[in-house]
Amino acid sequence: MTDAPRAVDVVVIGGGQAGLAAGYHLRRAKADFVILDAQHEPGGAWRHAWPSLRLFSPAQYSSLPGRMMPSPPGGGYPSAADTVAYLSDYERRYALPVIRPTKVRAVRRSGARLQVETDAGTWRARIVISATGTWWRPYVPHYPGIGDFAGRQLHTAGYHGPETFHGKNVVIVGGGNSAAQILAELSAVAATTWVTSRPPRLLPDEVDGQALFDLATRRHQATLAGESATGIGNLGDIVAVPAVREARDRGALKAEPMFTRIIPEGVAWSDGTTLACDAIVWCTGFRPALGHLAPLRLRGADGLIPTDGTRALDEPRLHLLGYGDWSGPASATLIGAGRTAKAAVAEIMKQR
Ligand code: FAD
Repeated sequence: MTDAPRAVDVVVIGGGQAGLAAGYHLRRAKADFVILDAQHEPGGAWRHAWPSLRLFSPAQYSSLPGRMMPSPPGGGYPSAADTVAYLSDYERRYALPVIRPTKVRAVRRSGARLQVETDAGTWRARIVISATGTWWRPYVPHYPGIGDFAGRQLHTAGYHGPETFHGKNVVIVGGGNSAAQILAELSAVAATTWVTSRPPRLLPDEVDGQALFDLATRRHQATLAGESATGIGNLGDIVAVPAVREARDRGALKAEPMFTRIIPEGVAWSDGTTLACDAIVWCTGFRPALGHLAPLRLRGADGLIPTDGTRALDEPRLHLLGYGDWSGPASATLIGAGRTAKAAVAEIMKQR
């Protein structure tokens, strides 16, 4: 026997920061909504990050609407655990109706409503906000020989700290913040080689995520005003949080060009140079976790769902939050999630 579907005006899928920011604005709009989250506990992806991860912005620039993230004891950049604590408190403080663990398997069209099928029953909703993040779809690029490597391969998502790397030869792949922070940590205990597909761009010490957010805001405003955003320069990618600075100062942040193939004992470049290694750490990013939306058949050739703001172009009852700039400028950051969520909820409350 199956339970009858439950009806609600808005279903939010995902109870990470993007889902909570949506919840905050839905609450203020007095909407009838639930948030369905696959995790057993609050915190979204932050609960799975490695212990030494530091946010690239200070707490006051890493906050959701309504409540500032407290600065960590002793100051500095908040850790993943600080972020989990903040999101847990946020959820409680605003009494957000998060139902967990509930994994959404599929969203389908069903007459005037969208039907949300979960491992704990079915919901019918006028509007669905998908805010499922990217952590759940780690991306590893394909290189010839990747399946033959005799050592250990792991992705950022599977990195839990330096303990198992002591004295090893480790290749770290990727030019972003994750690679730089993991390299900084591993280079203190292992022989590390950093490879990137283009020279890494380290930000000056005084520039952090706040400046990156200000830049994203200027780009957003230029686009809204119908002006070109191309003249607004790129500052770089890697924030020099203290651990990264320290690694840079001891000369550990020297990058090599990307290898071209993988051999059983290590990696190889096109000029015939080889390097033996025990492990390859792929800090090569993530893709949006959109599998539950497959029945709606909305994906474009690039794998993303075309949107106008957060609203799916071919399914106006679906909004997408977080994920990346394509679903709202800086909407996949703590500070940017609120702005996108506010605009999405304003539109949803007008959409009838
Ligand atoms: P998530 O945190 O992934 O939350 C999504 C939630 O949806 C999860 O609880 C998940 O279990 C749930 N879910 C997924 N699929 C389903 C389903 N089918 N049914 C039900 N629930 C589901 N941003 C910053 O602002 N500052 C930083 O310093 C920063 N550092 C970062 C460092 C790393 C290594 C990474 C990867 C990202 C970083 N980001 C940072 C970016 C961003 O803030 C995080 O990725 C953040 O976790 C995104 O939040 P989210 O709510 O979009 O997704």
